[in-house]
Amino acid sequence: MTPPDHRPTTPPDRRHLLILGGTTEARALAAALATATAPDGRPGLRVTSSLAGRVARPRLPAGEVRIGGFGGADGLADWLRAEQVDTVVDATHPFAAVMSGNAAAAAAATGVPLLALRRPGWAAVPGDDWHRVPSLDAAAALLPALGRRVLLTSGRQGIAAFAHLDGLHFVARSVDPPEPPLPAALDVLLDRGPFTLDGERAVLREHRIDVVVTKDSGGAATAPKLTAARELGLPVVVVDRPPPPAGVPVAASVPEVLERLAEQGLVGR
Ligand code: NAP
Repeated sequence: MTPPDHRPTTPPDRRHLLILGGTTEARALAAALATATAPDGRPGLRVTSSLAGRVARPRLPAGEVRIGGFGGADGLADWLRAEQVDTVVDATHPFAAVMSGNAAAAAAATGVPLLALRRPGWAAVPGDDWHRVPSLDAAAALLPALGRRVLLTSGRQGIAAFAHLDGLHFVARSVDPPEPPLPAALDVLLDRGPFTLDGERAVLREHRIDVVVTKDSGGAATAPKLTAARELGLPVVVVDRPPPPAGVPVAASVPEVLERLAEQGLVGR
């Protein structure tokens, strides 16, 4: 007869998920994981969100937060090993191409699974007068042919590409004040989304805007400017996204990420 097994059962380790953040979706994912059920017999996930530290007073996600760069792909790989990270979700902004490239390289070097969360880009609808360009520099080259008073919504770090355009008047919107080089004629609107359609109509009218510049960020929080521009018949210069790193699986929404994590046994269904 087999004697009863009295060995203590060691609880399974808490598994560690790193979210590379800085977006609405990254915060939504951290919030969803904070209340997600654990898979049967497993403790809940340890979730760490990482922010670059660009914004002076960031909106902090639920769970643990670390702030600041890792020191390139090698630094991130070291961090993944030291913190025993089991999986990474790259939920950075679609234009944060350096971080996404580093995440792909660090995942390849360590073997830690990586999933990218990328909200879909915007699509033009009838009535839109969009001019798609591949870069901020290309947007700057096109602008003088389209208007004189520009609403620039490409973020604080994107303003430098327009600094040489002396003939144009810029109204630049950013979360924190931009730093030189800056265009000579510049009004700064310190604000952060989400923005409303009424608010965007008011900005365009009050500043007598005749052309809008935006990155193809996608998402609802900053889309009302596109509707307001359409209503007023204004051209919009839309900067295309950089390509995502090759070979990294992509989810388009937080529920899709949760589904993939459930498939990996990291959260319950
Ligand atoms: P980036 O050019 O792709 O990254 C530059 C460096 O910043 C990276 O190499 C990394 O430094 C550090 N970094 C970026 N994201 C990080 C994160 N989540 N955690 C820790 N370090 C990070 O990035 P970016 O375009 O400047 O964007 C910075 C942050 O702002 C991102 O988190 C992004 O999600 C958010 N954001 C960006 C935009 C945009 O239009 N680019 C818009 C909204 C929000 P190390 O090499 O030292 O690790």
